Amino acid sequence: MTKADLILIGAGLSGAAFLAHLLRDHRGLRGRVAVVEPSSRLGAGLAYGTEDPAHRVNVAAGRMSLFPDRPEHFLDWLAASGALARDPGARGADGTLHPRRIAFGAYVDESLRAEIAASSVQVEHLRTAAIAVSRTGRGWQVALGGGATIDAPLLVLAVGHTAPDLPGVLAGLAGDPRLVADPWRPDALARIAADAPVLVVGTGLTGCDVIASLRLRGHRGPIVAVSRRGLLPRPRTRLPVEAWGDFTDPVCATALSLLRRVRAAIAEAATLGRPWEDVIAQLRVQGGTVWRALPVHERRRLLRHLRPFWDVHRFQCAPQIDAVVRAGLSAGWLSVMAATPVSATPDGALLRVGLRSRGGGGRETRTVAVAAIVNCTGPGHRSVVETHPVLHSLAAAGHLRADPCRLGIDVDLDSRVLDAAGRAWPGLFVAGPLARGTHGELMGLPQVALQPRAVAATVAALWPAESQHRTRDG
Ligand SMILES: Cc1cc2nc3c(=O)[nH]c(=O)nc-3n(C[C@H](O)[C@H](O)[C@H](O)COP(=O)(O)OP(=O)(O)OC[C@H]3O[C@@H](n4cnc5c(N)ncnc54)[C@H](O)[C@@H]3O)c2cc1C
Repeated sequence: MTKADLILIGAGLSGAAFLAHLLRDHRGLRGRVAVVEPSSRLGAGLAYGTEDPAHRVNVAAGRMSLFPDRPEHFLDWLAASGALARDPGARGADGTLHPRRIAFGAYVDESLRAEIAASSVQVEHLRTAAIAVSRTGRGWQVALGGGATIDAPLLVLAVGHTAPDLPGVLAGLAGDPRLVADPWRPDALARIAADAPVLVVGTGLTGCDVIASLRLRGHRGPIVAVSRRGLLPRPRTRLPVEAWGDFTDPVCATALSLLRRVRAAIAEAATLGRPWEDVIAQLRVQGGTVWRALPVHERRRLLRHLRPFWDVHRFQCAPQIDAVVRAGLSAGWLSVMAATPVSATPDGALLRVGLRSRGGGGRETRTVAVAAIVNCTGPGHRSVVETHPVLHSLAAAGHLRADPCRLGIDVDLDSRVLDAAGRAWPGLFVAGPLARGTHGELMGLPQVALQPRAVAATVAALWPAESQHRTRDG
């Protein structure tokens, strides 16, 4: 295929959700779609391609449907596929199901393939990476890894997450086998000896995953985990969650007034016997409106001061992972500190890392000697426009720019990419978390199914009329 009606670059969860909705919600479409995705599995991506048995979905399975209008879809698949029977640890102590992430990836892959089979659209999966995109008279030309090119009037970018940025202070250790710069690489932890003292930089979901993975592999050495504020994902209180409160009438114009509103809502919820999760759930539902009402400088303030608190309330661990982390804290093999690494130097077999504690007056207050450092600072979205070859090629030609908060790519409300001058391209879209700068909360389900579904509806409305006359094989 050298010409298509649509090219989709990247088929992790966002790309798969986009395509599944395009085919399912717009059954009458005909024509050709080229899916450029190196992985054999569609929909797995970074989060759901992992084969590490410690890695579990952090949202209960009952809330992880690919199709928001069929909430039981994943649960039904789990039961029918036998995946649950093969994973007896999936049910947590609280009764909720948190299967392995790879099972969710298999579910998305199978669901998408079923939609492809039922559709009149010819979908071709090109198992290679896109390396650059350029503008042509009619649309876009994508250069592929093997040297081929493919053209289409419509292009959806769903390239998702890049490896974490390396904190500057660890840059001198780049290439040192004792530094795990990207914890998402398969077998990233394989070289860490079972009794090695380990420093985990970052205490969010990835940091907790790494701690649980190390323990499952038999690691028994001490682990120190640090982050700016030393906050761990909050344990769950009560399920099911029911969104409660209101943050849109009126909307807040500053980060501080939003914080006060959230605190007041949590206090009021408590008087009604509701858990704080209900308020956070409502904030997620209304997140786009809340985010867009803030001027850019207030969005930045929110990211700088409130994001760590948002992250630990919004992103909760699977109960199985939470149990390992809490057990480590009470047994003493794990310690968590509010501290930032300020120096890192090799010392024989060890690495000496200077840590500046929060509240330490800017001085180095402690040194730890570890045999390995694992960088768990989260996806490198801040630099993605520079580091991802496709985005870089588009940005260099002035066709795309980073959003003002550096969460990803600047798009309009329909998720159309904005060029360097802020004009929206009619046929160039972003599906998934890289559109967060405009939409606000857009990291996990259900948002990573809802936003791609909206993109699919916009794309279907633009579908080239001449392609409607083509047969599936023509
Ligand atoms: C570790 C982790 C765990 C998570 N766990 C959960 C969870 O349990 N529950 C939940 O609701 N949310 C979870 N999330 C959040 C959410 O589901 C993710 O944000 C989701 O992975 C978004 O998928 P994506 O397709 O946008 O990105 P990705 O998963 O990064 O997929 C991007 C795809 O694009 C492809 N690609 C990249 N560059 C190119 C190129 N040049 N050419 C061709 N293809 C390319 C990649 O191969 C990849 O398959 C998790 C996120 C992470 C990072």
